[in-house]
Amino acid sequence: MVIYSHSRLSTYEQCKLKFKFRYIDKLQPEIEHTIEGFLGGIVHESLEWLYNQVINKNIPSLEQLIEYYAIHWNKHYNSEIKIVNTELTPEFYFDKGIKFLIDYYVKNQPFSENTIAIEHQIVLDLDDSGKYQLQGFIDRLVHNKETNIFEIHDYKTGAMKTQEDLDKDRQLALYSLGVRKLFPETKDVYLIWHYLDFNEKKQSTRTIEQLEQLKQDVIQLITQIESEKEFNANPGILCRWCEFRKYCPHKTP
Ligand code: SF4
Repeated sequence: MVIYSHSRLSTYEQCKLKFKFRYIDKLQPEIEHTIEGFLGGIVHESLEWLYNQVINKNIPSLEQLIEYYAIHWNKHYNSEIKIVNTELTPEFYFDKGIKFLIDYYVKNQPFSENTIAIEHQIVLDLDDSGKYQLQGFIDRLVHNKETNIFEIHDYKTGAMKTQEDLDKDRQLALYSLGVRKLFPETKDVYLIWHYLDFNEKKQSTRTIEQLEQLKQDVIQLITQIESEKEFNANPGILCRWCEFRKYCPHKTP
């Protein structure tokens, strides 16, 4: 049985050929990381560290957070990391990450929400048979004890979606199914995105009916993936960031 993830489903929706390269042929990617992915990874790691300290009642200073980020950037950065936009330098992206963290820290201190888990793994059955399973990781889970509402917090370092798109977004809605299963007495589950490049927080929620429909939609998508024969390419702007470009006869320049 295959355990699906949001990124596995999204890869199929973006380009079926890329899905085949990654999950069926299991080809070695041409590049391990783009600079955007690397930046996102180090920023996530830094915020994970920040909240681990907060949980241990030891709130780090902004300087300590930036120091953590810089040390980890320098430790892991290497020349194999691909910068698609060649007009930009690694220093540009490094500074961008610092700005994300400064803005986030200033806006969210003293971090008094009741954070109960960081990088929390969710595994859920989409149907009663256990045939369709899905897993994901919640960046940060908060429980508001007064309202008995859980909050799924997700950090985004890329482009910001519209509220309309967020109200239909699949990833956090799926995670909320897992949270509801773990905490059936909860009053509600809020979906919260932190768009770090815009210093903006966005929020949405789902009704039980919407979540039931989502499960059916995902099962249908998985059924389609499992019966797929063609795996057609979907060339476009995202080919520039595709880690399987060198295998692909259909890529855009
Ligand atoms: S290069 Fe483009 S068309 Fe080819 S697999 Fe990657 S995303 Fe798909």
